[in-house]
Amino acid sequence: MFKLSGVTKAYGEATAVTGVDLVVPAGETTVLIGRSGCGKSTLLRLLLGLIQPTAGEITLEGRPLGAYSSAALGQRIGYVTQGGGLFPHLTVRENVTLPCEHLHRSQGWNRSRIASRVAELSQIARVDGALWDRYPLEISGGQQQRVALMRALMLDPDVLLLDEPLGALDPIVRAELQEELRETFRSLGKTVVLVTHDLAEARYFADTIQLMQDGRVLQSGSFEELDRSPKTPFVTRFIGAQRLRTL
Ligand code: ADP
Ligand code: MG
Repeated sequence: MFKLSGVTKAYGEATAVTGVDLVVPAGETTVLIGRSGCGKSTLLRLLLGLIQPTAGEITLEGRPLGAYSSAALGQRIGYVTQGGGLFPHLTVRENVTLPCEHLHRSQGWNRSRIASRVAELSQIARVDGALWDRYPLEISGGQQQRVALMRALMLDPDVLLLDEPLGALDPIVRAELQEELRETFRSLGKTVVLVTHDLAEARYFADTIQLMQDGRVLQSGSFEELDRSPKTPFVTRFIGAQRLRTL
């Protein structure tokens, strides 16, 4: 779906992402994992076309990302920012239908189509009808994440980019949502890129894990591959440290 070749993103002297080569296969879940500050969110924003690489190239289905209009990318890619990014002054309904506001009526997003999409999404994300007219601060953290996911799915994108979507939740809600999300991704056949710093979560979701350090991808593979054949001492330490924590 995406192909990155030698992608670097610099901010002045500092480089957030350095020479990344990466393939994101269609219909699979790719997990970006690494410590805070290693460039995960920057990589996601590059895939979304929100920021442009300083060097290197990103293609989406063989075409340079820059060749797509931002409206076209907005329809093909759903994005959940770190923390969900719901607008506190808009109701749940207004948050979820916001992506349609930018589209012309000529693209068919009239009231009835929006209403039927909202009904579909309530089913997929299991959001209770009673929540629709509340504001984000009047619903729980788990519900806020479901709503953020619904907003990302509103235009039925092929791709979902999720930045630590479950990071702020308590363990029980988190486990519940993990299960629901994985099921949703599989049943909808979406291409997913999910950021986390939690190895257990990465293992649970990933077809492929991309382990990052200091703006680079150190190793790609399944959890078992990383565990069995770590390419660098950092990979061993990263897996070992997380394993200790979960005992
Ligand atoms: P992660 O999501 O893995 O925690 P980020 O991608 O947010 O990491 O950041 C990677 C590095 O790039 C960090 O050192 C961060 O301070 C830096 N960085 C990210 N965005 C900017 C920006 N807009 N301006 C300057 N530095 C940035
Ligand atoms: Mg981040």
